[in-house]
Amino acid sequence: MKIIEGKENIISGYLSYLQDESKISYGEIEYLAFPESEEDICQFLQFCREKNIPLTISNGKTGVVGGAVPLKGALLSLEKLNKIYEVKKSGEEYRLRLQTGVTLDEIYQFLETASFTQEKYFYPVDVTESTARIGGTVATNASGERSFKYGPTRTWVRSLRVILADGNILDIERGKIFAQGYDLEFKTVKGIVKKIKIPRYRIPEIKSSAGYYARENMDLIDLFIGNEGTLGIISEIELALTKKPENILSLLAFFNCEEDALKFFFSARKELMTAMVFEYFDSGAIKLLRPKILELPGNKNSAIFLEVEFNDSTLEEISSTIEKLLTENNSSLDNTWGGFEKKEIEKIRQIRHSIPETINETIAKRKQKLPILHKISVDIAVPEEKFLEMITYYKTKLEPLSLEYTMFGHIGENHLHLNILPRDEKEFILAKDLHLDFAKKAVVLGGTVSAEHGIGKIKHQYLEVMYGEEGIKQMLEVKKAFDPQYLLNRGNLFPEELLLNVFG
Ligand SMILES: Cc1cc2nc3c(=O)[nH]c(=O)nc-3n(C[C@H](O)[C@H](O)[C@H](O)COP(=O)(O)OP(=O)(O)OC[C@H]3O[C@@H](n4cnc5c(N)ncnc54)[C@H](O)[C@@H]3O)c2cc1C
Repeated sequence: MKIIEGKENIISGYLSYLQDESKISYGEIEYLAFPESEEDICQFLQFCREKNIPLTISNGKTGVVGGAVPLKGALLSLEKLNKIYEVKKSGEEYRLRLQTGVTLDEIYQFLETASFTQEKYFYPVDVTESTARIGGTVATNASGERSFKYGPTRTWVRSLRVILADGNILDIERGKIFAQGYDLEFKTVKGIVKKIKIPRYRIPEIKSSAGYYARENMDLIDLFIGNEGTLGIISEIELALTKKPENILSLLAFFNCEEDALKFFFSARKELMTAMVFEYFDSGAIKLLRPKILELPGNKNSAIFLEVEFNDSTLEEISSTIEKLLTENNSSLDNTWGGFEKKEIEKIRQIRHSIPETINETIAKRKQKLPILHKISVDIAVPEEKFLEMITYYKTKLEPLSLEYTMFGHIGENHLHLNILPRDEKEFILAKDLHLDFAKKAVVLGGTVSAEHGIGKIKHQYLEVMYGEEGIKQMLEVKKAFDPQYLLNRGNLFPEELLLNVFG
């Protein structure tokens, strides 16, 4: 196993490993390890345990909340654990077994050319950034555009192999170990019995990546999906696959105003039963994209991106429904891009992908002049019946302040990414205050403060808004049971000071 020692060596030769897409500041670390096997991980973990060195887990480094950014100690990069083992059949289900460092791109390509059956199968979770690695997406319970139809990562994880901070290993298969009420008891592969208490807070009935998954009688595997590497190191994963849709119609429909785009979406969600994707581009997103995509229609200020599955017998009906809904909302097929060729589908996905990319480029330029600036990224989702109330609340608060912002993304799941792009320090402070205010509002409406990005090192206060002091205390008890030396992923989910108080 390659291990780089010494902060100077790491900073001079391996700087990119100290960052993720949040661009938050990293701390000084003394070791950077590249394990190539589970034994390597266990060996390095033992070294950290013996010397009491905190260890941060890094994978694709595409996270946007600083989860993989080390504060001190050592960093474990999992990128060399990138083997795809096999496709196997379990009952009627095809499953893919692989190591934690395989990228989503590699999974998609592998399945595109694999020939384990006559029909085409695929892994349907399509996190917008496909250089993410599978272990990172499990650790954050990532979701993507097609989660409207297919759900988040959690839905597809069938088994996990997890190395705990004390070096013990868990092999967890979905459907095998359940809590009795709020008490979970399970065995490591060596037969050591572990017991923990599940937190008793209520998690919302919508997609969420905020804090530990906790429900009465829950499956043990769900505790390890979305825990942001605070409870163990995931080394192997088994994913369920599903049949690839026969045909996909991909459309980007442009509208004169946001009200029309929203009305179109609400009707389309009800009427298009085989829809897979509904994504929103508000006026801020269209404005940001204009300099990059010159052909964007000049008189349109918002858009809905949708993908609908079809076959020969349904295409005509789907097309006429879409045309009718466009007309009813002052748009038309002439104001809609798309098609069903691979090239056309990819082009629209690429345009959608350009939104976060352009935001990040814009803020990076501003940051060069004023380093404290970063985008304020609100990742809230609320129940369907509260969605319009949440959007109206955002606008009522944002408009009088003339802040630059955009709302885009996963409208199908009542989950928009609200990104505020501050231009100076005053706007930055205002935007941060607003984020807290929005988190409080979302919780009152029964929503989540993080639908997919997680809490990482930058959203602790919102997690407390969501679950209160008591909820955080119960999560800390779980952390303590799995990681008594408080070695793994310091600063994720909980502020370091709080953990040091609890762990002494
Ligand atoms: C342009 C862009 C678009 C994005 N779009 C989406 C989107 O649509 N949906 C979405 O959900 N996210 C999105 N993200 C965020 C990001 O891609 C996801 O959070 C992704 O799941 C992170 O995977 P990664 O491999 O890069 O993990 P990393 O960033 O390396 O790590 C993420 C967290 O998981 C922990 N971790 C990683 N691997 C393991 C492991 N094996 N065991 C234990 N802990 C581990 C890390 O310590 C860290 O806390 C986007 C990011 C960008 C830059």
